[in-house]
Amino acid sequence: MKYLAFASLLLVIFFSIAFIPDGQRVVGASDVGADAQKFIDEYTAEYLKLRYIYSQASWNSNTRIVEGDDTNAKAENAALERLTTFTGSTRNIEKAQAFLKEQAGLTPLQVKQLRSILYTAGEYPETVKDLVKERIAAETAQTEKLYGFDFKIDGKSVTPNDVDEILRTSNDPARRRKAWEASKEVGRVLKDGLTNLQRLRNTTVRPLGYSSYVNYQISDYGLTNQEMLQLLDKFNRELRPLYRELHTWARYELAKRYNQPVPEQLPADWLPNRWGQDWSSLVKVEGLDIDGALKSKTPEWIVKQAEQFYISLGFPPLPQSFWDKSSLYPVPAGASYKKNTHASAWHLDLQADVRSLMSVEPNADWYETAHHELGHIYYYISYTNPDVPPLLREGANRAYHEAVGTMIGLAAMQKPFLEGRGLAPKNAKVNQTQELLREALNYVVFTPFSAGTMPRFEYDLYEQNLPKDQYNKRWWEYVLKYQGIVPPATRGEEYCDACTKTHINDDAAQYYDYAIANILLFQLHDHIARKILKQDPHATNYYGSKAVGDFLRKILRPGSSRDWRMVLKEATGEDLSAKAMLRYFEPLMKYFKQVNKGRKYTLAEI
Ligand SMILES: [Zn+2]
Repeated sequence: MKYLAFASLLLVIFFSIAFIPDGQRVVGASDVGADAQKFIDEYTAEYLKLRYIYSQASWNSNTRIVEGDDTNAKAENAALERLTTFTGSTRNIEKAQAFLKEQAGLTPLQVKQLRSILYTAGEYPETVKDLVKERIAAETAQTEKLYGFDFKIDGKSVTPNDVDEILRTSNDPARRRKAWEASKEVGRVLKDGLTNLQRLRNTTVRPLGYSSYVNYQISDYGLTNQEMLQLLDKFNRELRPLYRELHTWARYELAKRYNQPVPEQLPADWLPNRWGQDWSSLVKVEGLDIDGALKSKTPEWIVKQAEQFYISLGFPPLPQSFWDKSSLYPVPAGASYKKNTHASAWHLDLQADVRSLMSVEPNADWYETAHHELGHIYYYISYTNPDVPPLLREGANRAYHEAVGTMIGLAAMQKPFLEGRGLAPKNAKVNQTQELLREALNYVVFTPFSAGTMPRFEYDLYEQNLPKDQYNKRWWEYVLKYQGIVPPATRGEEYCDACTKTHINDDAAQYYDYAIANILLFQLHDHIARKILKQDPHATNYYGSKAVGDFLRKILRPGSSRDWRMVLKEATGEDLSAKAMLRYFEPLMKYFKQVNKGRKYTLAEI
């Protein structure tokens, strides 16, 4: 009898496992799973309600900006406060922590949702309410100082755009140096603020068990600090042979241009960007005249074309509410309001309310942007399905969303695609090598900065409490090590050159997201081109390929309900790696063999 009872009990458990949907599975005699689910459901209902109110308020304040009227901004702030009071509440933190202590009784999906609740709480935990308040005020003040700074050259006020213009176009070394030094003055006034934020960002996340603010951000990838740093160094090492060629080419090319001796390392003020992160304006390529081809089209045509592209891959048409509620075109002349002109894609309720904010005009930039933004929208639509709980409706990791959008934007600008859309003549000639060089000066050059200098400095700043009198020294050590760039003269600790980078101030410790997104996009594009379309990755046409659509949906549909490494591995058979990016730029290695012949290479190994 005893045996039988035990056997029937097992049977009952077996059936509950088999027939109750995964999210509600109850394991063993314990009802931890059921209790946790009840908590998750209640949390989700309240979260969705408050988040939707906030998103709508935020949407209004971005699409309707009336000078002197801060009604929308106030409503947005109030809604954010209500939302964060809830997400950071001690009750939610303690409950999620308590359930996570009994993980054996939970499903993997429940564990993921509880972790997501804790992660969201980590930004504004009620347990350190006063520190959170202080941090928000300090962040606002820091951003105001940065954006309100009066840049000056020779005593005359200039805008950051003026500085950039000089760095991009001037061949006069003295003028360049003045512009570069002027751009770094803002660091002086931001240095104390960064020290304050170093303390506040660390102390607000530590109560939840994170060792530092960097550790908090990295944990979102499910990696340890060391795993993330190793991954980023792997990218840098993989790209090093190509970066060494670009570094050598730039030293000789610029020395010629400025009529100077060839320097040992690249002087920061010689480069067309204040941080040396993008050198693409060093080459001019005569490309296709897409602007000309789009001139006669309407903005509506452009957005519809982008939608048609996704439909051709087997995605559904956009919901009517997208067209009714989005803000897609420039504000009409003479209107009494303005709107944010930066393009974005929104998932307001984590259900069907998807919108885009753009100011589409008939030109090549907006053509690419429309395809990019709809990439985000179709990612939202794909992971809004019954298998993905609302709390996990986001990219597989923070980099996936951007990787997908950027990849589609790039694919939509390749010649065979444009030919197919009637936007490029069949016999148009483009200098492929120069075009590839321009792309490398953007994507490859960006990696040592985004996967080296920035994350290394922020790791030391937060995780190792880098003392204030070493900020500048440490910053330039990493700039030299990863980027092979040196300042025009020694930069003392009265400066804070790291502080001149926006993200150090207002988007801390997640800059490597951009590096990972780039690595990922080349990997996905390479797979699509070579394995699915059997086309040259430099000249693809995704249009109309259901197989490409199936591949993308496999990646997009699970949102963050599955481990991002598994998602990539199952889709491509590979781990995250810069090899595809390297292969894409392979033809350049042959080009550099000739161009850099006999030149001295000075970039160190990592
Ligand atoms: Zn984007």
